[in-house]
Amino acid sequence: MILSCDLHIHSALSPCAENDMTPGNIVMMSMLNALDAIALTDHGSCRNVRAASEISDQLRSEGQNSPRVIPGMEMECAEGFHLLAYFPDVDTAEAFEAFYEKHRIILPNKPDIFGQQLIFDSVDHVIGEYDQLLSVSSYLSSEELVDAVLRFDGVVVPAHIDRDSYSMLSSLGAIPPEFNGKILEISSRTNAVQMLKKHPELYRFVFVSNSDAHNLTMIADPGFGYEFPSHFRNGFSAKDFVLSLREQSYQ
Ligand SMILES: [Zn+2]
Ligand SMILES: [Zn+2]
Repeated sequence: MILSCDLHIHSALSPCAENDMTPGNIVMMSMLNALDAIALTDHGSCRNVRAASEISDQLRSEGQNSPRVIPGMEMECAEGFHLLAYFPDVDTAEAFEAFYEKHRIILPNKPDIFGQQLIFDSVDHVIGEYDQLLSVSSYLSSEELVDAVLRFDGVVVPAHIDRDSYSMLSSLGAIPPEFNGKILEISSRTNAVQMLKKHPELYRFVFVSNSDAHNLTMIADPGFGYEFPSHFRNGFSAKDFVLSLREQSYQ
């Protein structure tokens, strides 16, 4: 079963994303784009994931083909690059956020400079604004972050490794052998063939390509095709999805 996915989307909780990136708008746009699975991956927080999941579940209960919402977060490690984390359910993602919060720079947000960080409920109403800046670095190394995410039953995918900034490849010059995952994200500016031409040493990795959408028109259409294991053929939950990512990454 091939699923159409976009696993890197920023909601209005990320200071750099548009304010109309509400959970409801993201789910509706993803449904229009016929995506099967999406992940909200805001910087340092997953506080809009619950609303997006509930909106999508509601639509599915009404018989609509709403995408499955995979709880996620974009982290910045102490070495200064971005890692995507995915979790089996919203409670676990929120528990991880509480852990992450204790290990990152604490700075008040200045909404007029960096942008607002809006939190929504499941009917798309603003219920709060996150007052500390979320697009800051953690004090934990990439290795420590990977270990922590695995302890929370999640999986880590290094983000946009083809980019010149905030990427594992540009920061370290290589994907270090200590990173034992198999999945790497490339941005929409390249593809797997181009990437391997430039970096043949990455032949053993699997590439996924997401939108890193900061506005509604950027959401993937279509998404990347993810070969979902056949033993999950009869529908899938976020937990099944993350389990399959873990299996593919650590097989
Ligand atoms: Zn990033
Ligand atoms: Zn991002």
